[in-house]
Amino acid sequence: GSAIEANGLGMKYGRGAGRWALRDCSFRLPAGRVCALVGPNGAGKSTLLALAAGLLGPTEGSVRVLGSDAPGALRERIAYVSQDKPLYPQLTVADTLWAGQELNPASWDRATADRVASPLPQHAKVRTLSGGQRTRLALALALGKRPSLMLLDEPMADLDPLARHQLMGTLMAEAAEHSTTIVMSSHILTELEGACDYVLLVDGGRVRLGGETDDIVAAH
Ligand code: ADP
Ligand code: ADP
Repeated sequence: GSAIEANGLGMKYGRGAGRWALRDCSFRLPAGRVCALVGPNGAGKSTLLALAAGLLGPTEGSVRVLGSDAPGALRERIAYVSQDKPLYPQLTVADTLWAGQELNPASWDRATADRVASPLPQHAKVRTLSGGQRTRLALALALGKRPSLMLLDEPMADLDPLARHQLMGTLMAEAAEHSTTIVMSSHILTELEGACDYVLLVDGGRVRLGGETDDIVAAH
């Protein structure tokens, strides 16, 4: 089946004659895959992820997520990590992990969350963490939730090469073990192509190409 199915999906911010951030997008993303959402800055990647997460309502068309027309109702099954990594700046790392467990008592995968967060200073407050450390903590929370679908906006951008390699490995293992669908965006295809078996190319608010990474790389 499809994890995400968009039909004529379009998004325009604000009222009146604004520009379309996303227009006339129709595509399917197969379930259980690690998918790269690739395109230049301003292409519409963040908008697409926020629509799939149910945080934005489409201006036109529709997006079905995990078989539902109302992705907002699927909060428990979706982990969405935006670029600004919404964490509580006053909480410590340890308290943030504890809160994650409290909020997801049934599904919480403590072993994975704790392992991903283990290089972080556990008693440091979130506001003192670097960008890369905040990304690591946000990914630990997302993985701990053990969602059916992970929507990750530029998750690798702030990470150093070693952290990138480690976290990419963890995400791929998660997808393989639990059939999690992972969609992650980047403006650099090579940052993701080794890890992602499916690619969606977005440019100028349109989905230009979608398919198996091997096929797309071979054809270009
Ligand atoms: P990407 O993630 O690929 O960089 P975005 O989805 O962030 O692309 O942006 C797509 C387009 O929508 C851009 O032209 C951007 O300026 C515009 N846009 C994004 N967010 C907003 C917003 N909150 N209000 C108005 N325009 C926005
Ligand atoms: P990384 O370790 O991933 O390279 P940085 O520590 O360089 O991340 O942070 C990226 C940007 O965010 C920098 O411009 C930095 O000044 C800023 N920044 C990082 N931590 C804070 C903070 N606690 N408060 C305000 N700005 C911060």
